[in-house]
Amino acid sequence: MAAGVGPGWQDRGVRRPTSSTTGSSRSRGAAPRPRGGQPEQLGFDGMPERLFVCTPSKLGSYTDCPRRYRYSYVDRPAPQKGPPWAHNSLGASVHTALRNWYALPPDRRRPDAVAGLLKATWVREGYRDVEQERELYRRALDWLESYLDGLEPGDDPLGVERVVAVKTAVLAFNGRADRIDLRPGPDGEPELVIVDYKTGRSGTDADDARGSQALALYAYAAERVFRRPCRRVELHHLPSGTIAAHEHTPESIARQLSRAEDTARDIMAAEKAVADGGNADEAFPTSPGTLCAWCDYRRHCPAGADAPVKEQWSAVERLLAPDA
Ligand code: SF4
Repeated sequence: MAAGVGPGWQDRGVRRPTSSTTGSSRSRGAAPRPRGGQPEQLGFDGMPERLFVCTPSKLGSYTDCPRRYRYSYVDRPAPQKGPPWAHNSLGASVHTALRNWYALPPDRRRPDAVAGLLKATWVREGYRDVEQERELYRRALDWLESYLDGLEPGDDPLGVERVVAVKTAVLAFNGRADRIDLRPGPDGEPELVIVDYKTGRSGTDADDARGSQALALYAYAAERVFRRPCRRVELHHLPSGTIAAHEHTPESIARQLSRAEDTARDIMAAEKAVADGGNADEAFPTSPGTLCAWCDYRRHCPAGADAPVKEQWSAVERLLAPDA
């Protein structure tokens, strides 16, 4: 699941620069080749419509900015991303350490194991210098020790970084949930709980948990994969040690699903317009805003030129600020 110190939509994974071109022609609206050069499916009456294969981050990317979506998922070769962000490195390191914690036998899940786990998974890219990296490592170790100290070593989640997948009339959805717990629900029967780790500077609240489309889609998919109710979603913010939770209803999950399907239809329409020779810039317009400063594609995007420049370590620097 996406997590990061910086803007919430930054992918958690560490980006690896590709050998692709600079994509300068894209700013002129030249129609790029459709995804992977796949031939357009022929449509026949009665033939089932193509499902939109997606993850939460793919849908979120389009919602945040259609142009950013195009750079990530439509243009081939994809434009080269900017350099790696330290907040993505930090988020990836913490997430992997948490995953590996649960891979240990319960009798080895002790506080003195945490440093070894974090060291083994530490991603070094993007920090200003070794001093800043060390400081963030110590900070992350504190978060993990404190967080894991509050867990029962013998409690095994139902799933850790578990992929859940489901199909609807429009979507072929799949995503990797940070953690799926099985806990007693309001009537005492076991229910699923979706847990998402956060490592950003700002804390999260119940509105964030309620409004997260990703969490709602995970709940929808997990319920069908495990054939158990899944209503509760939680954001575990490691820097503050707080948990923001929301109890969904079937109706609130259905609303989020419906919005996701609307987004998928918009994306498919835009992709078809480009495949049919339409103007790619018009099909995938820019959506300039505060996120541009953190966008991996800002140097390819005409709207990104006006955004303030952020250093690769700007977001983690704020984590170290005295009031953080
Ligand atoms: S720089 Fe801004 S407008 Fe351009 S692709 Fe990135 S987020 Fe979208």
